[in-house]
Amino acid sequence: MAQIIDGKAVSAAIKEQVRDEIARDNIKAGLAVVIVGNDPASRVYVNNKKKACEFCGIKSFEYALPEETTMEQLLELIDTLNADKNVNGILVQLPLPKQLDEKAVIERISPKKDVDAFHETNVGKIMIGNYSFLPCTPAGCMELIHSTGVDVAGKECVVIGRSNIVGKPMAMLLLHENGTVTVCHSKTKNLAEVCRRADILVAAVGKPNFVTADMVKEGAVVIDVGINRLENGKLCGDVKFDEVSEKASFITPVPGGVGPMTIATLMKNTLTAAKIQNDE
Ligand code: NDP
Repeated sequence: MAQIIDGKAVSAAIKEQVRDEIARDNIKAGLAVVIVGNDPASRVYVNNKKKACEFCGIKSFEYALPEETTMEQLLELIDTLNADKNVNGILVQLPLPKQLDEKAVIERISPKKDVDAFHETNVGKIMIGNYSFLPCTPAGCMELIHSTGVDVAGKECVVIGRSNIVGKPMAMLLLHENGTVTVCHSKTKNLAEVCRRADILVAAVGKPNFVTADMVKEGAVVIDVGINRLENGKLCGDVKFDEVSEKASFITPVPGGVGPMTIATLMKNTLTAAKIQNDE
């Protein structure tokens, strides 16, 4: 039976470290969160980020823009935030309404304030291993893996999913720690067989209960990034928790696994951004 990795506890410890450093060194840090439209899930995420800022002593600035916001209006706001000395980090909550070009919006954020690490400059820096911030969700997954005491070096790591925000950077972070990494996607052949090779298996698919016990090696560390809302309103991961937890050595639950880590890393990145900018 697997040990459950407690994302709430690990994330709470990170937020406490951020809070203590901010208080001890009297650091002024600010995060601007921009939300466009009325997506209920995005609202929940934004509120959670606001609460985490309050806890850490980071000033949060929220910009809730109407669904019909134009590119011009959004880019103008980003320019203003880029120039605002009280704002160290800028986060634009995704997804954006259809008329807005997400890529162009991300590229407009100053790389120094891009605490999500989605900007091309930051993605490139991560690729070559010379970065200030790591993308929040994959970095959170790495912290959870570290919390197990399992060393990534030399391990077979399989990531299911190759999105720019989760799968690809996750693979890169595992590679930085000397894992032997395989990235799977919808065109992968013999997926179950590939997954069964994994000492560390990360699922970022977006399909409820996708990873079943027959895809998991005995004793694997299983990290479930998926957040899927079922018809009954309950949240569920990409991993069939009940059966996979019988086989894995460590497993993250949903909720309470990767989710809270994403926000904790965001707080850490905002503190890093503030320190860099305050030193300039
Ligand atoms: P995307 O939809 O962008 O990517 C999903 C990936 O899964 C794609 O690469 C896709 O392959 C792959 N995939 C889909 N079907 C299959 C299949 N049958 N076999 C193998 N691979 C498949 O999702 P995201 O990366 O943005 O998110 C993934 C999950 O993580 C979602 O549930 C999301 O809600 C959650 N998430 C959670 C966060 C957190 O804080 N915990 C943060 C961000 C996301 P292909 O590229 O070929 O289409």
